[in-house]
Amino acid sequence: MIRIIFFIILFVSLAFGTRAEDHYWEKGETFLKFLEKNSLPFSLYWGLDIEDKEMAAEIYAGTKYYILRGDEDDIRQILIPVASGELQLHIYKEKDEDYTVQFTPAAYQESEKELVFKLQLSPYQDIIALTNSTLLAREFVNSFQGNIDFKRLREGTEFVLLYKEKTRLGSHFSNPLIKAAMVDTKSKKEYVFYYEPKGRYYNNDGKEIEGFFLMTPLKYTRISSPFTLKRWHPVLQKYRAHYGIDYAAPIGTQVKAAGDGKVTFVGPQNGYGKTVKIAHEGGYSTLYAHLNGFAKSLKNGKYVKKGELIAYVGNTGVSTGPHLHFGLYKSNQPINPASVIKVAKSALSGKEKTEFNKYTEVMKEKIAEAQAKGVIPEMDGSFVYVIDIADNADS
Ligand SMILES: [Zn+2]
Repeated sequence: MIRIIFFIILFVSLAFGTRAEDHYWEKGETFLKFLEKNSLPFSLYWGLDIEDKEMAAEIYAGTKYYILRGDEDDIRQILIPVASGELQLHIYKEKDEDYTVQFTPAAYQESEKELVFKLQLSPYQDIIALTNSTLLAREFVNSFQGNIDFKRLREGTEFVLLYKEKTRLGSHFSNPLIKAAMVDTKSKKEYVFYYEPKGRYYNNDGKEIEGFFLMTPLKYTRISSPFTLKRWHPVLQKYRAHYGIDYAAPIGTQVKAAGDGKVTFVGPQNGYGKTVKIAHEGGYSTLYAHLNGFAKSLKNGKYVKKGELIAYVGNTGVSTGPHLHFGLYKSNQPINPASVIKVAKSALSGKEKTEFNKYTEVMKEKIAEAQAKGVIPEMDGSFVYVIDIADNADS
């Protein structure tokens, strides 16, 4: 469907006197401001339901979007990728009808890739030099966290990565997934495996790699809405998404930083009401929305500790009742906070371990094959949608 829309924009536009334009979402721009700027009716926003209004708050500065105009310079279609880029906001108009807005899934290619290289500067720098992907470099370093000291690697160390990547029109589309990787120091081979049933990285012994962990940011009554990346709603006949967990709690309940980090945003955000954002290590960031107010000392640029009071539960923005909307992002892509909230790391045992061992044997063979071939994939274009908030926050 969207592929068709793209074709319309790219090709049919030439034939029928229509015109496609690229734009970039401005810093501080809200969906309402965007409608005003383009003389589009505000009803396109007010007509959205609550979940969709939250989604409209998920358009980031720097996002590239497309406007297709007709013969009289009138807007025919607009496509704006939202957060992960899996969904996009599509505004369109048939000839003399009113504008309609809906969320539609985006088209992308998913490909399995291999990367083999010898240490030059550091694995992080080398991966960027070879693939043009900071996302892949970061994911690689994260995946080995605590298992290898990358600063102490010797010349001649060889790396093998098997990964999955989504691209769209030749550009990175979301975080790559490293399925398996090996660091061969010539005296020892160290592995990591992404184990799908657990959704986490493990070493060769089936021990979970210590990654980034969060705490639940408040004492809540119940989860009023779970995380949903993208789901077709058969009754409403449309795509729904919810990029966070909603925790119901009374107004004034203390909200705490889910992890150590640097505050990157304090203030109102369209749809989300009073909002706090915190950048954490490894490209992670968290978002706390619909707040009643902020902790006194909280301001942009402040470093906070895990568990430090940052704000209070409220009902601001588009909200049906007092709750905290808690979002987690990795390189600005929404991920399920439930996968990262954890108490202790675990090791696989028993039947699980047997299954894991079978899986890793297969992956090790694939790694050995890749190493023998020595593949370097074609370079991708730059990442299309995202200005990296976490990176900016570190500098
Ligand atoms: Zn929510």
